[in-house]
Amino acid sequence: MAIDFTKYIASVPDYPEKGVVFRDISPLMADGEAFHAATDQIVQYAKDKGVEMIVGPEARGFIVGCPVAYELGVGFAPARKEGKLPRATVKASYDLEYGTSSLYLHKDAIKPGQRVLVTDDLLATGGTIGATIKLVEDLGGVVVGTAFLIELDALHGRDKLKGYDVFSLMNY
Ligand code: 5GP
Repeated sequence: MAIDFTKYIASVPDYPEKGVVFRDISPLMADGEAFHAATDQIVQYAKDKGVEMIVGPEARGFIVGCPVAYELGVGFAPARKEGKLPRATVKASYDLEYGTSSLYLHKDAIKPGQRVLVTDDLLATGGTIGATIKLVEDLGGVVVGTAFLIELDALHGRDKLKGYDVFSLMNY
């Protein structure tokens, strides 16, 4: 029987600020069977897309992407915040509610033409994943898919990802 993954998401009102409902994935990760089943679904999606490499943004993009990379026997490259990667990087900036932020990827993380899956825990406005996609493409990678545990429909991140395939396990 298919698992209802929403049972494993804790909805936290007024976090991190008043009026926001934070979708906490910790209970899903804490349940071995549910975490395994969720990972399996993304593994199947990645297999169908012929994925050769996975890239995820700090930090929950690692949690989603790494077990998929392990299962497929492909590599994983972390997209990180300023000052975290020790060697030469490319940089992409994106808008936050107030100000901007940047993500970085090692310059040798992707081989030109490589088929890349980009992963994160949650798609909201699409800013984070948009910057991650830009990093991959700057290095000549081909983003063949994007995968999330959760998509927040009201924030229309999918619209920002026009031209990219979007896979999410849950919609809120
Ligand atoms: P976006 O850049 O699409 O607006 O926001 C998505 C990013 O913010 C993701 O990296 C995600 O981890 C984080 N994020 C924003 N809201 C939530 C939330 O309610 N729950 C979780 N788990 N992450 C969130």
